[in-house]
Amino acid sequence: MRIHTVTGIIDTGELGETLFHEHIICTSPEFQRVFPDWLPRKKVVDIAVSKIKYAAEKFGIKTIFDATPLSLGRDIELLKEVSEKSEVQIVAATGFYCYDSFARHKLKVDFLADRLAEDAVNSHASLLKCAVGNDGLTPEAAKTLEVICAAHARTGLPVYIHTAAAAKSGWEAQKFVAGNNVAPEKTVIGHVSDSNDIEYPLELLKRGCYVSVDRIHPHNSEFILQLIKAGFADRVLVSHDHVCCYDTVMENPDDRQNAPHGLDIVHGVILPELRRSGVDEQTVKQLTTTNAARLLEE
Ligand SMILES: [Zn+2]
Repeated sequence: MRIHTVTGIIDTGELGETLFHEHIICTSPEFQRVFPDWLPRKKVVDIAVSKIKYAAEKFGIKTIFDATPLSLGRDIELLKEVSEKSEVQIVAATGFYCYDSFARHKLKVDFLADRLAEDAVNSHASLLKCAVGNDGLTPEAAKTLEVICAAHARTGLPVYIHTAAAAKSGWEAQKFVAGNNVAPEKTVIGHVSDSNDIEYPLELLKRGCYVSVDRIHPHNSEFILQLIKAGFADRVLVSHDHVCCYDTVMENPDDRQNAPHGLDIVHGVILPELRRSGVDEQTVKQLTTTNAARLLEE
């Protein structure tokens, strides 16, 4: 199946080693608009390219999904530049984060869904992003999900939901989107390893969704191993939720490493540990390549 990256159309078979949830930038669109030097572009590009090139050269990373939604400053031209300079394919998202938005309060669901669908076409985005935080399905979160479900009906794109693992907010979020015609095989529940409660992802996997272990820490290999042993290797996605640059570089210009880890835990620590535990290469490839491809295809 053909899909869009920010630099052109590829076949899903060309994704290669993939990190499913990372960010080139996360920032504040209102400050970016007022201050042209907010997250200075050249510095951002230099930092992002050096991090991504390192991951590509050391681990053979070929594709990064940039999960940055509109309300965290997604910038397609920036993604294109970073992709071209790093020679790593970048798949973009559209949609919302959980922070407040005037438009989401004031505008109707169908109007917003039309706009997201239009953006998905114009920006070649291949993922719809939304978020349900610790407070669960507040009226605002429910409206956001409604918009995303309506955008899914227009585009067919998979839906990624940022969730709060401790509050298990993905359980009610998945139920809500399923009730609004987003099939489990087009749904990804994010941040499931933020708590150690394995029941949180297992329940979602039993429902048929994908889960994203995407704030990965070196100790997460056991967590992933349990999901594999339970028979769900075909529904687990792995990545770091690493932000190459975000607003804290305004306070600390020398901060090149905002997130706890860079882009090297999955391939540098987790996969070798899974192999040592007896996980075969085909299963490893599911986590890093084939699951992301199937999510886009199904
Ligand atoms: Zn993220």
